[in-house]
Amino acid sequence: MSSKYPEEFQGIGIVDKEDWLHPKRVSFKPKEFTPNSVDIKIECCGCCGSDIHCAKSDWFELPHGQVVGHEIIGHVVKLGPNCSSGLKVGDRVGVGAQVFACLECGRCKEDNEPYCPKFVTTYCQPYEDGYVSQGGYADYIRVHEHFAIPIPEEIPSELAAPLMCGGITAFSPLIRNGAGPNKRVGVVGIGGIGHMCTLFAKALGAEVWAFSRRGNKKEDALKLGADHYVATLEDKDWDTKLFNNFDLVVVCASSLSDIQIDKFVKVMKIGSSIISISAPSFDEKLVLSPMGLMGVKIGNSAIGSVKEIKTMLDLAAEKNIKPWVETIPISEKGVNEAFERMENGDVRYRFTFVDYDKEFK
Ligand SMILES: [Zn+2]
Ligand SMILES: [Zn+2]
Repeated sequence: MSSKYPEEFQGIGIVDKEDWLHPKRVSFKPKEFTPNSVDIKIECCGCCGSDIHCAKSDWFELPHGQVVGHEIIGHVVKLGPNCSSGLKVGDRVGVGAQVFACLECGRCKEDNEPYCPKFVTTYCQPYEDGYVSQGGYADYIRVHEHFAIPIPEEIPSELAAPLMCGGITAFSPLIRNGAGPNKRVGVVGIGGIGHMCTLFAKALGAEVWAFSRRGNKKEDALKLGADHYVATLEDKDWDTKLFNNFDLVVVCASSLSDIQIDKFVKVMKIGSSIISISAPSFDEKLVLSPMGLMGVKIGNSAIGSVKEIKTMLDLAAEKNIKPWVETIPISEKGVNEAFERMENGDVRYRFTFVDYDKEFK
């Protein structure tokens, strides 16, 4: 199938939500090209846990033919006449989990675009004109120039991809909550995002504790830079031993209600924060005893701003930070393989889809 760019884009989309594990080749109309649009020919894209949540309709009903993927790396092929961010045709850029914000409200002006009420996520969400965003398991993506972020040349594309969502989701709560030298940081859940959180916490100079339920990720966590490892189901007294230890704990488990929150509160210093990055189903509720929370702050973080993404990419380039990535050629078969292995927890720790030129000739 040949590409019909610019009238139509090609992708691997979910056409049957009962059979979301088997996406199919689809073609779709891109969003209208506006004076601030940038067209990007995609080179590779990471496979994020959110892709699976969306494919399974965990958050909302999936539109037919939905293409997911929001860890996108590609090259600029077309720029609208009002683009003024300095991008040029041919530049290598990344697109993360956000493709639109008003850029005018108080939150946007303070570099909090992920918290803008007009936030449009990279796939599955209608823009104001009704067009439902389509993601990066496709040959091209069209986005507002603000969300096309230059990638430093030191970072290979397949390693840059997972930084665009998983990486920044880990990095933002670290820098917003003071992770750095002489700080003790816990990372709970050593998976796709947790492994990047460990890499970044260490790169920022913190003393890092990796938390997982069992001991099976100890070797990996120490290789990733963790200074200590706690298997919470195997060491029953961990909360007593680590009393008053942490300046920050970042919860990278699938849900905040999924961890032993009462124990984590005990190991926090007074005034410190427990920040979750999870995005569970909307109907899930968190049950907490306010008495237990005395002196400790708790919050939930969402991706990160464009400014934070640029800071993260510069740090990754400078410190040679390398997420652990397994590449899979993009195709119906490739996406199926990645989804099935993600469902089975068989990923250490991120898949990046590659070989876009072969699939989308
Ligand atoms: Zn994501
Ligand atoms: Zn805004």
